[in-house]
Amino acid sequence: MVPLLDLRAQYRQLQNEVDAAVHRVLESSEFIGGRESECLERELAGYLGVTDVVTVNSGTDALVLSLKALGVGSGDEVIVPSFTFFATAAAVSLAGATPKFADCAPDSYNVDISALQKAKGQHTKAVIVVHLFGEPVDLSPIQKWCTEHGLWLIEDAAQAIGARYADQSVGSVGDIGAFSFYPTKNLGAFGDGGAIACRDPAIARCLRQLRNHGRAGRYEHQVIGCNSRLDEIQAAILRAKLPFLDTWNERRRRLAARYQRGLQGTVCRWQTANVQATPVYHQFVIRHPQRDALQAFLTTHGIATAVFYSIPCHLQPALAESHGEVSLQHAERLSEEVLALPIYPELTEEAVDHVTGLVHLFEQQR
Ligand SMILES: *Cc1c(COP(=O)(O)O)cnc(C)c1O
Repeated sequence: MVPLLDLRAQYRQLQNEVDAAVHRVLESSEFIGGRESECLERELAGYLGVTDVVTVNSGTDALVLSLKALGVGSGDEVIVPSFTFFATAAAVSLAGATPKFADCAPDSYNVDISALQKAKGQHTKAVIVVHLFGEPVDLSPIQKWCTEHGLWLIEDAAQAIGARYADQSVGSVGDIGAFSFYPTKNLGAFGDGGAIACRDPAIARCLRQLRNHGRAGRYEHQVIGCNSRLDEIQAAILRAKLPFLDTWNERRRRLAARYQRGLQGTVCRWQTANVQATPVYHQFVIRHPQRDALQAFLTTHGIATAVFYSIPCHLQPALAESHGEVSLQHAERLSEEVLALPIYPELTEEAVDHVTGLVHLFEQQR
């Protein structure tokens, strides 16, 4: 049996550090807004190379509050990729704005400049790019284009913490970077969590108010905010895990390279990396013309797989109103062909070889 992900294996490896972190918080009995989240914000800012990090309750809130802090809301349009996790698009609606969907490139699975140009309208105020599956978007041309057109650039780096683009951390290049610490992400909490990286202290101040009931003083509320604070237990656990992140990501890259070698000679294709980028393989996602049959075959042989994403956002019922009649051919095609294979730092080389061997066997039998 090969699972898609094994969180218990990671806990076993770090049990002493994690248990000590949790106990530290229990003893302090400071559960919200204390030393752990302050330290985590500083450590993450150092790690990412930004002036400010604001921790929040989830990656979704990181996106919603980012849009609000940038003044994007009712009447505004925000370009988002259609081929992404639903939260990217939903965040735009939750902020009161309208998502406009861009198609993706068939090789990188990410948006490129031509897709953004097509999606841009009169009311476009911002672009959210997604570093999908940990593969950095080609940011330079997009950043230049956003600057030329006066658009905010938000990086949804929920799947890409630790990935680099042209020697910068993803999430530190655009105006704002949003991260998620959902347990399955490359840096996962033991519950929900998220963070926002920014380079403008005024925006950081606004974000700190927004996540805490719009508070300016103890009982003075400047704006209508929400309750989106990262709790101290999650912050302490994330601090214990952060020093291991680069090693885990390096391991993911080695496993991905092994998949790529092992899949040579099959009809599988996989996400291509930008030359300026160091990806972190949150998922290793192949394309296969007989995706459903391959998935069934692997399931029979005890290999867990998943389809990210079977419905592109522009075809989601919840967003039907905002997208109208768009058709995005690459996103639609990808949703029929993609299959995520198991990848996580504790996965063995033997397991990867076993999976790639089964893919060859599947193709021989057809
Ligand atoms: C996980 C994820 C989010 C949302 O993060 P949560 O912490 O689950 O709210 C947003 N965008 C992408 C691309 C994600 O993968």
